[in-house]
Amino acid sequence: MRYIEPHAHMVSRTTDDYLAMVLAGCQAVCEPAFWAGFDRHSAEGFRDYFAQLTEHEPKRAAKYLLPHYSWLCLNPKEAEDLALAGEVLALIPEFLDRPGVLGIGEIGLNRNSRNEVAIFERHVDLAARHNQLILIHTPHLEDKHKGTRLIIDILKNDPRIDPGRVLIDHVEEHTVDRVLEAGFWAGITLYPESKCTPPRAVDILERHAGGNVWMNSACDWGHSDPLAVPKACFEMRKRGHTAAEIDQIVFQNPVRFLSQSPHFVAPV
Ligand SMILES: [Zn+2]
Repeated sequence: MRYIEPHAHMVSRTTDDYLAMVLAGCQAVCEPAFWAGFDRHSAEGFRDYFAQLTEHEPKRAAKYLLPHYSWLCLNPKEAEDLALAGEVLALIPEFLDRPGVLGIGEIGLNRNSRNEVAIFERHVDLAARHNQLILIHTPHLEDKHKGTRLIIDILKNDPRIDPGRVLIDHVEEHTVDRVLEAGFWAGITLYPESKCTPPRAVDILERHAGGNVWMNSACDWGHSDPLAVPKACFEMRKRGHTAAEIDQIVFQNPVRFLSQSPHFVAPV
């Protein structure tokens, strides 16, 4: 079996995780910029983080023969300090031409606050001006439905944004239809506690067969599982899905979306 891990925060993981992913068939890993678990207090802290994502982590992954890609932004949790957010946004273009940088992400909303919306719109503008792909984080639990609606409205109101170049991640049963019907790609995140379990994810996939959907583990520094995607593949096998159907979801779909970036090299 082969698969792409399209959303993993590998700077928080161990080399054992890299080895386990490669042994399970992982062909490439993509790492969106993320909240560190604590607030960074200066733009220089972000500069170091972007250097870690674009220089150091690809070298660490290469020791396990795994191509590593990244997405750049500041997280919605870090949008409340507007002055700092502005400084970080100004830094990002310096990094966009680096090899392995796929676009702007994971941007979005967390608590759907006014400042989060303002910083989200500035990220979207940055992506449009630099012709970048966009990866979207949608809020958790009770804020998800409203946040997803807000995000789609903002993107739809910008004529520069092509929905086929935007992936809206962490969809669930009550948001996936709206995302796909609006022409965006949808990501299903497999998480042990919040977000989807493998059986729920496969239920969603079965209702949207042939859709522009991928699955990811979004593994990070919290309780999460870097092997969540191959475990969901096992769930698909148990339900009788063919190897070709599984390959479509976990390999060909991510390759199709990511290949819209000139920096992504499709594994052969
Ligand atoms: Zn994430």
